[in-house]
Amino acid sequence: MGSAPSERLAEVRAAIARAARRAGRDPAAIDLVAVSKTHAADAIEPLLAAGQRSFGENRVQEAAAKWPALVAAYPAVRLHLVGQLQSNKARDAVMLFDVIHSVDRPSLVDALAAAMVATGRRPDCYLQVNIGDEPQKGGVALGDLADLLDRARAADLPVVGLMAVPPEGIEPAPFFALLAKLARDHGLAGLSMGMSGDYETAVELGATCVRVGSALFGARDYPAADKTG
Ligand SMILES: *Cc1c(COP(=O)(O)O)cnc(C)c1O
Repeated sequence: MGSAPSERLAEVRAAIARAARRAGRDPAAIDLVAVSKTHAADAIEPLLAAGQRSFGENRVQEAAAKWPALVAAYPAVRLHLVGQLQSNKARDAVMLFDVIHSVDRPSLVDALAAAMVATGRRPDCYLQVNIGDEPQKGGVALGDLADLLDRARAADLPVVGLMAVPPEGIEPAPFFALLAKLARDHGLAGLSMGMSGDYETAVELGATCVRVGSALFGARDYPAADKTG
């Protein structure tokens, strides 16, 4: 792995392109989201200077403190919320983010729909699926996905796809394949899957959006208990 941020960015982009070609896919169909949570503006700026425009954060407050000044300098930035969202922060999230990856329950669908009506902003939404059926993880249960999608469509949320984080420590490919099948079955084109450790596999299995943090920024400096944000 290169040490300069711009080198790491080039390496991740090249790896995405290779994985896409292995699967007969167009590399341009994959959005690389640079997950900059916990990293300050001075770590983000080199990637902006190198042309990166999609960034991910997992906390509304942290993003609100960090991003307005950077967006003013780089207006084409698209901000993605990749972490769990409390309903009482739905309005702030709708104001700040262009894409929300973590819609996972009816109360949040309703809060986001109300926030979109109130603000006139309509960020793209992914429904997050608890693909490994893990008790502690965010995401809608597999058996509740169809109802949540019906509710989101009825509320006129701009649902573009499904998102998931597979269980740690086991082969992720079957989970990526399952998420791709669910998206197909529900007529959704977007697939937000793949992180630093497994984004190439995710691209081979159809990811349209990969969320990559540590492979671009280096390790994050915070307690393990805080990881799921
Ligand atoms: C932090 C995070 C990422 C990035 O993780 P890395 O392993 O550092 O690439 C991706 N998706 C979500 C939901 C995250 O919280």
